[in-house]
Formats: sequence, structure tokens, C-alpha cells
Amino acid sequence: MKKTLGDLPADALAGTVVAVRADLNVPLSDGEVADATRIERTVPTLRHLTEAGAKVVVLSHLGRPGGRVRPKLTLEPVARRVGRMVDAEVRFCAHTRGPRVHEAVSDLQPGMVAVLENTRFDPGETANDPSLARDWAAWADHFVLDAFGTSHRAHASTAGLPRAVRRNGGEAVAGFLVARELAALGDALTEPRRPFVAVIGGAKISGKIDVIDALLPRVDALLVGGAMANTFFLAMGMETGTSLVEPDRTAAARRLMVAAGARLVLPVDCAVAASIDPRAEVRFVDRGDIAADEVIGDIGPVTVEMFRSHLREAATVVWNGPMGVCELASLAEGTRGVAHAAAEAADGGATVIVGGGDSAAAVRATGVAARISDVSTGGGASLALLAGRELPGVDALSDLEAREQG
Ligand code: ADP
Ligand code: MG
Repeated sequence: MKKTLGDLPADALAGTVVAVRADLNVPLSDGEVADATRIERTVPTLRHLTEAGAKVVVLSHLGRPGGRVRPKLTLEPVARRVGRMVDAEVRFCAHTRGPRVHEAVSDLQPGMVAVLENTRFDPGETANDPSLARDWAAWADHFVLDAFGTSHRAHASTAGLPRAVRRNGGEAVAGFLVARELAALGDALTEPRRPFVAVIGGAKISGKIDVIDALLPRVDALLVGGAMANTFFLAMGMETGTSLVEPDRTAAARRLMVAAGARLVLPVDCAVAASIDPRAEVRFVDRGDIAADEVIGDIGPVTVEMFRSHLREAATVVWNGPMGVCELASLAEGTRGVAHAAAEAADGGATVIVGGGDSAAAVRATGVAARISDVSTGGGASLALLAGRELPGVDALSDLEAREQG
């Protein structure tokens, strides 16, 4: 068990400098924040710290600047937006490390916030450069990890800094957002209420084989959709036309089918088209009737109903990856249908957790996000947890000592 912000007494925070690794990696359009959801999610942590009288320094990456300054990816407009969302003075510091950052931090009064420039402008961030972590730890008394979506990466701001802070005698804890994500997925995986049903989709089986491997022994049913199902079809010797398949993974698919037996549930019908194109005509076919010149773009309506009946029975649902090319309205029905079925399961009392960037976006687009227990902010991080891997950012946090655990 790792310490969380709730484990630190608020009076111990007053006057201290707290570095917060947040996820401010928001979409921008014309230099303004286009969607503030990620900022909203970290506001409770920021507010708790400013109200406790801490001096808060926020670190985050934005996009992929590749270790150099790219003016288009400055966090400045994001800092302005943060300022409108927390009741505190929020300053922007146009540097990532060095004396200018030290000055900006020493200018803070208790209850104020400074947002540093995009951490990935500094090549030391993704390289997890120890000198960068030490430079930050020189002014940080404590560290809070509130960026679940990057916690699976061992970068300077996610893993190097918390370790450096702890070496200096400070605390490194999970913020409210990360604590909630860990609790939701952790409980679902370690002590799932049964039946436990997992839905896995998306583009490639290769990226999620470890996830399927880790889930299989735990679940009562594993429903597979998306292009991932195609490689299973191929392994079964079926015609998959021009669909996205991974021939080098058919052996793995066969092995998974044998290990899973009846718990592995594959689509029985598909939406096919001449090509993946918004204008292409879509027809629904039995999975045995796919023509050599057709491409599978979605699961079919019979499969949606079959998946729905599994989800209706479930007490725990974990879903990662869309059922089809849901970016196109004509191939989004399968994903929408499963999103509705997942929301119905949640309405009926099931714990439903959706992780993955594209799946989370699909759930929001379907308008059912509010009914689902947890729509995770972190695709890669939730996949890593599902696969049973350690998250380097979480691993670096202070341990809750046994006698403190309830
Ligand atoms: P997530 O971000 O939720 O983890 P992935 O990134 O693994 O999901 O997969 C999402 C992508 O999978 C989408 O871009 C979608 O178009 C693609 N996809 C799903 N089904 C198919 C299919 N049948 N053919 C091609 N691409 C597909
Ligand atoms: Mg994705």
C-alpha cells in the first residue's frame, strides 16, 4: 500500500513546497484549452493543497515536443485555465529547471500555485535524468503524483522526483485522482465481485496479449471485439478478407483459445465494407460469410446482443478497446451498443471500469460516461495494471507502514 494525500495531516503541509505531477496534457486548439476534463480531475488535489497552505508547484508534460522547446506546446494557456479553476493565485514559470524555477518557487506564498513549463521541453524528462530530479527535489519538500496517465512511465517527473524527494526526507504520495484510479482498478482485479467479465477490443492483439494473459485466469468471461478478434478468426482458419490481422500472432491466439476454453467469447457476426471509409456501404454478415475483398470494421448486431447478455449478468466489468473503427459513425454501432450495455450493467449495480484513450472517448461520445463507475484517464497505465505490471510512478511513492494500515 502506498501513501495517499489523505494520509498526510493537513497541518504538516502548511508552508511547505509541494511538487505535484499532474496530467495537464489537454487538447489545445488555436492556443487555447479545447477540453479541460483533465484539469478538472486534478483540481481536488490542487485545492486540498492550497487550502492546507502549501506552496504548490505543478509539473506536467504536454504533447510530444521531443526534448526541445516547441512554442506551440507551451503550458502557458493551460496554466491560465488552471488559474480560473482553483481559487488561488496561479503563476506560470516559463522554465523547466534551474535558477529561474528556484526563484519562482521562492516567490510563492502559502496557498499559491506555480505551473512550470512543459517538462518534455527538457530532454532529461523522458530520459529520467537524475540531475533533473535532483534540481526539482532541491526546492520540493513533498511530492504528489496526480498523473495516472503517465504513471506507467519512468520519467524524471513521475519516478525520479518522488525518489529524490524521499531521499531528502520528504513524503511522496498519491494524489486523489491517482488514489481513486488505483483503488478502482485494484479492487476490481484483486477481489472482483463475480461474475467478472472483461471486454477487450482495439486495433492490435500484439499490444494486449499480456493483458489477456493476465486477465484470463481471473475472469468468468472475456469478450473480444475490434480488430483483435480478426487474428483469432485467422487462427481458426476463417476468411478475414482485407481486415487488419496479425498473422505472426496466430500461434499466440491459438494458445489463448486453448487456455480460455468457453470463457473466451468471440464475435459471431461482423460489419463489413469494401474499405474503411465513411462513404463505404456497410453490411452485416455471419463471421463465416466474409468475402475476400471485404474488411471487418465492427462487430455485428447479433454479437452486440450476445455481449449484452454477458454484461447483464456481470457484477464486475473491465473494458478496454473499442469494438470497431468507432471513429467512423458507420462503424461505431458495436462500440455504442457495448457502451450502452456497460452502462446498463452499472445501473444494475455492477462495478464498471473503462480504461483506454479511445474506449474512454467512445464512452463519452455515447453519452453514458456518468453512469459508469470509473472512466480511467490513463490508457497505457490502466493496461499496465490490467496486465499485472508495476507502475514506476506508483512504485516510487512512500509506503504506508503496516501499523498505519487499517
Ligand atoms: P484504447 O485507446 O481504448 O486502448 P486501442 O488504441 O487499442 O484502444 O484501439 C483503438 C483503435 O482500434 C481505434 O483507432 C479503432 O479504429 C481501431 N479498431 C478497432 N476495430 C478495428 C477494426 N476492425 N479494424 C481496424 N481498426 C480497428
Ligand atoms: Mg488508443
